[in-house]
Amino acid sequence: MASQNPAEEENSKQNWSLQDFEIGKPLGRGKFGRVYVAREVKSNFVVALKIIFKEQIDKYKIHHQLRREMEIQTSLRHPNILRLYGWFHDTDRVFLILEYAHKGEVYKEMRKKGHFTEKQAATYILSLTKALTYCHEKHVIHRDIKPENLLLDHEGRLKIGDFGWSVQSKSKRHTMCGTLDYLAPEMVENKAHDYAVDNWTLGILCYEFLFGAPPFEAESQADTFKRIMKVDLSFPSNPSVSLDAKSLISRLLVKDSLRRLSLQKIMEHPWIVKNADFSGICL
Ligand code: AMP
Repeated sequence: MASQNPAEEENSKQNWSLQDFEIGKPLGRGKFGRVYVAREVKSNFVVALKIIFKEQIDKYKIHHQLRREMEIQTSLRHPNILRLYGWFHDTDRVFLILEYAHKGEVYKEMRKKGHFTEKQAATYILSLTKALTYCHEKHVIHRDIKPENLLLDHEGRLKIGDFGWSVQSKSKRHTMCGTLDYLAPEMVENKAHDYAVDNWTLGILCYEFLFGAPPFEAESQADTFKRIMKVDLSFPSNPSVSLDAKSLISRLLVKDSLRRLSLQKIMEHPWIVKNADFSGICL
């Protein structure tokens, strides 16, 4: 039993309850709930248990969003996507049984270091590109990739953690969503958008990983919007970053979504080839 994890059991056991888990230390707090490390009693398997109060679900009318997050995340199996093993609920709460990301948020690590080395940034960008390739093949557009949604496992492997804003779609989408600094121009303008929004976000993240702040940051939301629409991109001289990295960023932050570098081309880009650890492990 000790080697079994809830994922392997999911076909045989659908009816989880709180009694199946021993709750450990709190891992964090999100907008809609709290996350704790927990151990599945029978298997000893360690997971993260996300607890969302039904009151909050009602208050923010997130029934559909949560259901969509759960359905999408359960269906995805990729080393760089956090597994959702299952869920259950009691009268007041919904519990999500998630893969435990031992090293926590990429965002915290970035804040601690100021910015990442090219090797570390390239490894994270490659891991994200592989995960997004897999998502796009399954017709899932993530739309809310940002450092707070990226977690690290015990080996430092990047995991996309939150599918709250993702959509499963074969056609172009119209709804406005995502976080301001990471929005692609077509989303700022509320135009139809497709998979290429995630490619834009990879450019934003690559910049942020290397320089420590997103490229279109401004005092007000209106100014950020303007900077995104103009693609007002400049590279600070400190920290010094290679021309190869800047070339990749410039090929992703392109207003015309059809001209953005494809995910396949990102993986073949010289900066990735020279710097990334293809195992995805980054200590
Ligand atoms: P969330 O509600 O998803 O925003 O989660 C709140 C915080 O809990 C996050 O910012 C992480 O620091 C932490 N957290 C969430 N999920 C996990 C996980 N699977 N493993 C480790 N920490 C997590």
